Amino acid sequence: MSTENGELSDLYQEVILEHSKAPRNFRKPAEANQHAEGYNPLCGDRCTVYINMDGDAIRDIAFQGSGCAISRASASMMTQILKGKTKAEAAKLFEEFRDLVTGQEAAPETADLGKLKVFSGVSKFPARVKCATLAWHTLQSALENKDTPVSTE
Ligand code: ZN
Repeated sequence: MSTENGELSDLYQEVILEHSKAPRNFRKPAEANQHAEGYNPLCGDRCTVYINMDGDAIRDIAFQGSGCAISRASASMMTQILKGKTKAEAAKLFEEFRDLVTGQEAAPETADLGKLKVFSGVSKFPARVKCATLAWHTLQSALENKDTPVSTE
């Protein structure tokens, strides 16, 4: 077994493959009051994030789109972790997630990310960081209710 195979299996952990095949909250909620579109031209990933805000809290969050396994799994798991969270909590999680996938040293110590830690393997593949963060960038734009689509480039 080559090292490369080992790293690839790190990247495509079972939980990532499972979420990419059966993404959670993959829908367009009728009651969504804010949304944004995101595009990662490097890989061709597209996603639209829908949120239903209740004051400062994310009452409901869902997404639609098409893309690689990493981008789909990341969006799916993001919607799971963010339901019920406030804007500030979402911003903090985004910061931690970005640190994790870019290989910042502080990230492995943070407990809040939970299952999202499976994305730590992405840090070995700089080209895939944008796949993993696309949904989060799009979420940020949805929270700000921006009309301009987000591009990772
Ligand atoms: Zn991708």
